[in-house]
Amino acid sequence: MRDTTKHLGRRNQLVNLLQQKGIKDLRVLEAIRSVPRHLFLNSSFEDIAYLDRAFPIGSGQTISHPYTVAFQSELLEVKDGDKILEIGTGSGYQTAILLKLGARVYTVERQNELYKNTAKIFNQLHIRPKIYSFGDGYKGMPNEAPFDGIIVTAGAPYVPEALLLQLKIGGRLVIPVGDEIQIMTVLVRVSESQFEKHEFGDFKFVPLLENKN
Ligand code: SAH
Repeated sequence: MRDTTKHLGRRNQLVNLLQQKGIKDLRVLEAIRSVPRHLFLNSSFEDIAYLDRAFPIGSGQTISHPYTVAFQSELLEVKDGDKILEIGTGSGYQTAILLKLGARVYTVERQNELYKNTAKIFNQLHIRPKIYSFGDGYKGMPNEAPFDGIIVTAGAPYVPEALLLQLKIGGRLVIPVGDEIQIMTVLVRVSESQFEKHEFGDFKFVPLLENKN
Protein backbone atom coordinates (compact mmCIF):
# COMPACT_ATOMS: atom_id res chain seq x y z
CA MET A 1 0.00 0.00 0.00
CA ARG A 2 1.06 3.56 -0.61
CA ASP A 3 0.14 6.95 0.75
CA THR A 4 -1.54 9.09 -1.91
CA THR A 5 -3.28 12.47 -2.19
CA LYS A 6 -6.56 10.57 -1.92
CA HIS A 7 -5.50 9.35 1.54
CA LEU A 8 -4.36 12.83 2.50
CA GLY A 9 -7.76 14.18 1.47
CA ARG A 10 -9.42 11.68 3.78
CA ARG A 11 -7.09 12.63 6.62
CA ASN A 12 -8.03 16.29 6.13
CA GLN A 13 -11.68 15.31 6.51
CA LEU A 14 -10.85 13.29 9.61
CA VAL A 15 -9.03 16.28 11.12
CA ASN A 16 -12.11 18.46 10.50
CA LEU A 17 -14.28 15.87 12.21
CA LEU A 18 -11.95 15.64 15.23
CA GLN A 19 -12.02 19.44 15.53
CA GLN A 20 -15.82 19.32 15.52
CA LYS A 21 -15.66 16.69 18.24
CA GLY A 22 -13.59 19.06 20.38
CA ILE A 23 -9.90 18.33 19.73
CA LYS A 24 -8.12 21.70 19.88
CA ASP A 25 -4.39 21.01 20.09
CA LEU A 26 -3.05 22.03 16.68
CA ARG A 27 0.10 19.92 17.01
CA VAL A 28 -2.03 16.83 17.66
CA LEU A 29 -4.28 17.63 14.68
CA GLU A 30 -1.21 18.13 12.48
CA ALA A 31 0.15 14.74 13.61
CA ILE A 32 -3.16 13.06 12.71
CA ARG A 33 -3.02 14.82 9.33
CA SER A 34 0.45 13.52 8.59
CA VAL A 35 0.46 9.91 9.85
CA PRO A 36 -0.98 7.46 7.26
CA ARG A 37 -3.31 5.45 9.49
CA HIS A 38 -4.28 3.08 6.66
CA LEU A 39 -0.72 1.71 6.61
CA PHE A 40 -1.15 0.41 10.18
CA LEU A 41 -4.25 -1.61 9.29
CA ASN A 42 -4.90 -4.69 7.25
CA SER A 43 -5.30 -3.60 3.61
CA SER A 44 -8.95 -4.71 3.61
CA PHE A 45 -9.68 -1.67 5.82
CA GLU A 46 -7.96 0.78 3.49
CA ASP A 47 -11.16 2.44 2.34
CA ILE A 48 -12.50 3.02 5.82
CA ALA A 49 -9.25 3.70 7.65
CA TYR A 50 -10.09 7.38 8.06
CA LEU A 51 -13.51 6.97 9.59
CA ASP A 52 -13.55 7.65 13.33
CA ARG A 53 -13.71 3.96 14.12
CA ALA A 54 -11.80 1.26 15.94
CA PHE A 55 -10.69 -1.79 13.90
CA PRO A 56 -9.39 -5.26 14.70
CA ILE A 57 -5.59 -5.55 14.50
CA GLY A 58 -5.27 -9.26 15.38
CA SER A 59 -4.94 -11.20 18.66
CA GLY A 60 -8.41 -9.93 19.66
CA GLN A 61 -7.10 -6.35 19.91
CA THR A 62 -8.19 -3.11 18.28
CA ILE A 63 -6.54 0.07 17.06
CA SER A 64 -8.18 2.89 19.04
CA HIS A 65 -10.61 5.37 17.45
CA PRO A 66 -8.76 8.36 15.98
CA TYR A 67 -10.72 10.55 18.41
CA THR A 68 -9.42 8.54 21.36
CA VAL A 69 -5.83 8.69 20.06
CA ALA A 70 -6.15 12.45 19.59
CA PHE A 71 -7.82 12.97 22.97
CA GLN A 72 -5.23 10.95 24.90
CA SER A 73 -2.40 12.68 23.00
CA GLU A 74 -3.87 16.07 23.90
CA LEU A 75 -4.16 15.11 27.59
CA LEU A 76 -0.54 13.96 27.62
CA GLU A 77 0.63 17.51 26.68
CA VAL A 78 3.73 16.23 24.86
CA LYS A 79 6.54 18.73 24.39
CA ASP A 80 9.37 18.37 21.91
CA GLY A 81 11.99 15.95 23.26
CA ASP A 82 9.77 14.58 26.06
CA LYS A 83 10.48 11.05 27.20
CA ILE A 84 7.20 9.15 26.87
CA LEU A 85 6.28 5.59 27.85
CA GLU A 86 3.43 3.95 25.97
CA ILE A 87 1.75 0.84 27.39
CA GLY A 88 0.05 -1.22 24.65
CA THR A 89 1.82 -0.66 21.32
CA GLY A 90 -0.86 -2.54 19.37
CA SER A 91 -0.78 -1.43 15.73
CA GLY A 92 1.88 1.19 16.41
CA TYR A 93 -0.36 4.05 15.23
CA GLN A 94 -0.36 5.88 18.57
CA THR A 95 3.42 5.37 18.74
CA ALA A 96 3.77 7.10 15.36
CA ILE A 97 1.63 10.02 16.53
CA LEU A 98 3.78 10.45 19.66
CA LEU A 99 6.93 10.45 17.53
CA LYS A 100 5.39 13.13 15.26
CA LEU A 101 4.79 15.20 18.38
CA GLY A 102 8.55 15.14 18.94
CA ALA A 103 8.59 12.63 21.80
CA ARG A 104 11.27 10.06 22.48
CA VAL A 105 9.05 6.99 22.74
CA TYR A 106 9.43 3.84 24.84
CA THR A 107 6.66 1.39 24.10
CA VAL A 108 5.69 -2.05 25.37
CA GLU A 109 3.34 -4.72 23.99
CA ARG A 110 2.12 -7.85 25.78
CA GLN A 111 1.12 -10.07 22.86
CA ASN A 112 3.90 -11.69 20.94
CA GLU A 113 2.09 -12.02 17.63
CA LEU A 114 1.15 -8.35 17.57
CA TYR A 115 4.59 -7.40 18.82
CA LYS A 116 6.23 -9.14 15.86
CA ASN A 117 3.75 -7.83 13.29
CA THR A 118 4.11 -4.26 14.39
CA ALA A 119 7.92 -4.58 14.44
CA LYS A 120 7.68 -5.22 10.69
CA ILE A 121 5.44 -2.18 10.18
CA PHE A 122 7.86 0.01 12.16
CA ASN A 123 10.68 -1.19 9.89
CA GLN A 124 8.73 -0.63 6.69
CA LEU A 125 7.63 2.86 7.69
CA HIS A 126 10.95 3.83 9.34
CA ILE A 127 9.24 4.44 12.65
CA ARG A 128 11.83 4.47 15.39
CA PRO A 129 10.80 4.33 19.01
CA LYS A 130 13.82 4.47 21.38
CA ILE A 131 12.74 1.12 22.78
CA TYR A 132 10.06 -1.27 21.55
CA SER A 133 9.77 -4.17 23.95
CA PHE A 134 7.72 -7.28 24.48
CA GLY A 135 6.64 -7.37 28.12
CA ASP A 136 4.14 -6.50 30.81
CA GLY A 137 3.01 -2.89 30.89
CA TYR A 138 1.84 -3.16 34.51
CA LYS A 139 5.54 -3.02 35.40
CA GLY A 140 6.32 -0.02 33.20
CA MET A 141 9.98 0.25 32.15
CA PRO A 142 11.86 0.71 35.44
CA ASN A 143 15.30 0.75 33.81
CA GLU A 144 14.35 3.73 31.64
CA ALA A 145 12.36 5.72 34.23
CA PRO A 146 11.59 8.50 34.99
CA PHE A 147 9.29 9.67 32.19
CA ASP A 148 7.73 13.04 31.33
CA GLY A 149 4.56 11.22 30.43
CA ILE A 150 3.02 7.75 30.38
CA ILE A 151 0.08 6.77 28.19
CA VAL A 152 -1.86 3.54 28.68
CA THR A 153 -3.88 2.49 25.63
CA ALA A 154 -5.82 -0.40 27.19
CA GLY A 155 -8.44 -0.35 29.96
CA ALA A 156 -6.79 -0.74 33.37
CA PRO A 157 -8.87 -2.21 36.23
CA TYR A 158 -6.79 -0.01 38.60
CA VAL A 159 -3.85 2.39 38.36
CA PRO A 160 -0.63 0.35 38.55
CA GLU A 161 1.59 1.88 41.22
CA ALA A 162 4.75 1.11 39.23
CA LEU A 163 3.58 3.58 36.58
CA LEU A 164 2.99 6.37 39.09
CA LEU A 165 6.46 5.85 40.52
CA GLN A 166 8.06 6.08 37.07
CA LEU A 167 6.82 9.65 36.47
CA LYS A 168 9.05 12.70 36.85
CA ILE A 169 7.76 15.39 39.18
CA GLY A 170 5.34 17.31 36.95
CA GLY A 171 4.91 14.22 34.74
CA ARG A 172 1.50 13.00 33.57
CA LEU A 173 -0.04 9.54 33.45
CA VAL A 174 -2.97 9.27 31.01
CA ILE A 175 -4.87 6.06 31.73
CA PRO A 176 -8.41 4.76 31.13
CA VAL A 177 -9.49 3.19 34.44
CA GLY A 178 -12.34 0.73 34.92
CA ASP A 179 -13.59 -2.75 34.08
CA GLU A 180 -16.47 -2.66 31.57
CA ILE A 181 -16.34 1.08 30.94
CA GLN A 182 -13.27 3.17 31.68
CA ILE A 183 -12.98 6.73 32.92
CA MET A 184 -10.20 8.61 31.15
CA THR A 185 -7.98 9.67 34.01
CA VAL A 186 -4.96 11.96 34.21
CA LEU A 187 -2.67 11.72 37.24
CA VAL A 188 -0.09 14.49 37.58
CA ARG A 189 2.84 13.90 39.91
CA VAL A 190 2.98 17.17 41.84
CA SER A 191 5.63 16.05 44.35
CA GLU A 192 7.54 12.91 45.30
CA SER A 193 4.47 11.50 47.05
CA GLN A 194 1.49 13.54 45.80
CA PHE A 195 -0.61 13.08 42.70
CA GLU A 196 -3.37 15.27 41.34
CA LYS A 197 -6.25 13.45 39.68
CA HIS A 198 -8.42 14.71 36.79
CA GLU A 199 -11.21 12.74 35.11
CA PHE A 200 -12.44 13.13 31.52
CA GLY A 201 -15.47 10.97 30.83
CA ASP A 202 -16.25 7.44 29.70
CA PHE A 203 -14.44 5.35 27.10
CA LYS A 204 -14.37 1.72 26.10
CA PHE A 205 -11.01 -0.02 25.65
CA VAL A 206 -9.83 -3.60 25.35
CA PRO A 207 -8.53 -4.71 28.77
CA LEU A 208 -4.98 -4.24 30.03
CA LEU A 209 -4.07 -7.89 30.48
CA GLU A 210 -2.74 -9.14 33.78
CA ASN A 211 -0.72 -12.25 34.53
CA LYS A 212 -0.50 -13.30 30.93
CA ASN A 213 2.16 -15.93 30.21
N1 SAH B 1 -2.00 2.08 20.96
C1 SAH B 1 -2.62 1.00 20.24
C2 SAH B 1 -3.90 0.52 20.91
C3 SAH B 1 -4.00 -0.96 20.87
S1 SAH B 1 -5.21 -1.70 21.93
C4 SAH B 1 -2.85 1.38 18.78
O1 SAH B 1 -2.71 2.58 18.45
O2 SAH B 1 -3.13 0.52 17.96
C5 SAH B 1 -4.31 -2.04 23.40
C6 SAH B 1 -3.04 -2.82 23.30
O3 SAH B 1 -2.57 -3.08 24.63
C7 SAH B 1 -3.17 -4.20 22.64
O4 SAH B 1 -2.24 -4.30 21.63
C8 SAH B 1 -2.88 -5.18 23.78
O5 SAH B 1 -2.28 -6.37 23.35
C9 SAH B 1 -1.96 -4.36 24.66
N2 SAH B 1 -1.86 -4.82 26.04
C10 SAH B 1 -2.83 -5.41 26.80
N3 SAH B 1 -2.37 -5.68 28.03
C11 SAH B 1 -1.08 -5.23 28.08
C12 SAH B 1 -0.07 -5.24 29.08
N4 SAH B 1 -0.27 -5.75 30.31
N5 SAH B 1 1.13 -4.70 28.78
C13 SAH B 1 1.36 -4.16 27.54
N6 SAH B 1 0.44 -4.15 26.55
C14 SAH B 1 -0.77 -4.68 26.81
